[in-house]
Amino acid sequence: MAKTVKDAILRGRKTVESVVEEGRKKVETVVEEGRKKVEGVVEGGLDTVDAVVEAGLNTVETVVVKGRRTVENAVSLGRRTVESALLGRSTMQAAVLHGREDVRIEEVPIPKAEAGELIVRVGAALTCGTDLKVFRRGYHARMIVPPALFGHELAGTVVEAGEGVSDFAPGDRVVALNSAPCGQCYYCQRDQENLCDDLLFNNGAYAEFIKIPARIVAKNTLKVPEGVPLEHAALTEPLACAVHGFEDSLPRVGDIVAVIGGGPLGLMILHVAALAGYQTIALVRHEGQAEAARLLGATHIVQNPSVRKAIEETRALTPGDRGVDIAIEAVGVPEAWQEAMELVRKGGTVNFFGGCAKNTHVTLDTNRIHYSDITMRATFHHTPAICRKALTLIASGRFQAGAFITGHAHLYELNRVFEKLMNRSTEAEIKTAIVP
Ligand SMILES: [Zn+2]
Ligand SMILES: [Zn+2]
Repeated sequence: MAKTVKDAILRGRKTVESVVEEGRKKVETVVEEGRKKVEGVVEGGLDTVDAVVEAGLNTVETVVVKGRRTVENAVSLGRRTVESALLGRSTMQAAVLHGREDVRIEEVPIPKAEAGELIVRVGAALTCGTDLKVFRRGYHARMIVPPALFGHELAGTVVEAGEGVSDFAPGDRVVALNSAPCGQCYYCQRDQENLCDDLLFNNGAYAEFIKIPARIVAKNTLKVPEGVPLEHAALTEPLACAVHGFEDSLPRVGDIVAVIGGGPLGLMILHVAALAGYQTIALVRHEGQAEAARLLGATHIVQNPSVRKAIEETRALTPGDRGVDIAIEAVGVPEAWQEAMELVRKGGTVNFFGGCAKNTHVTLDTNRIHYSDITMRATFHHTPAICRKALTLIASGRFQAGAFITGHAHLYELNRVFEKLMNRSTEAEIKTAIVP
């Protein structure tokens, strides 16, 4: 089958090349003829020259335009041939989650697009802390119940558009988000779409193809700008969470922002704050995380295994040890939530960004919360508007997307990749791009 695809691509390329070559020859002939005519008439006077040049230019333009159209048709034909070769198959390789630490690469049917849906050939699917949690626990109450296709950060190329889809066509490079809000409920009506009562999730990025449900096509699928690699575009989802968390922390010019946690999201929030021009303090564990934080613009790094000392060190970096203006917790354990409360100055903001396990509780100093007038937020997920912001930031070139993708692996290596991520201790691994 791979051979047929390759043949189709080769045939397509040859057709395109010969058309381009023919077009070039035609242009050259016309230019040459024009030049000869011009030379012949030069003695006859400048007016005549102008007229001939004008006529020549018109002819050249016509030929170029015609040539381009022919080339475009040939490319489109080639693409269609490749696509039909791919879709001629009925099954694909995909990761199926069966339970705790049980993901199998299986041959499953290639999905077909119903009305409003898209089928996307996955270009890159990124590993994510949430997937790692799901791998460990074997399920995710809101997002995925096994047996199920798995993976949610992806970008790829549309191969099939269902009836009624007008915004996308085969060949479009897209990033399809992992969820879309209903737009109808109380929360959606109040611009809190991240809390939608009927948030629709989509999984199945660790596969050759993925079906994008109609609601996500309509609300949360974005075209990837030219020049942006698909694996960078796939960062849109986590980056949207990071941008949301940062903006939700109500930053004000001149603020010092501390971020607890050197995981992918902690580093992203840190980078977003640094890019926005804020002073940042990264509280991390490992040397690899410290290095990454430095690279992503951290003003200071605090890397102390003692929570007490890390708090003191962080406060010492602020005028009069008063504490940071904003403390964002991006670890997801109660101890880190409590630590965040102690980093912040009076009147500051704490964002409990990291989700803790079910049924965990924290004890907080009520006096400090009240008399120091602490604002507490806890940002969850993203909204369609913020997803668009995130992709714009990636496309701007300012965001160091490449720094977040520290490895590449084939789909069949997925288990090994997760096992490695579970045992991550000192390594500087952030995300692995799974390329099917
Ligand atoms: Zn994710
Ligand atoms: Zn809703």
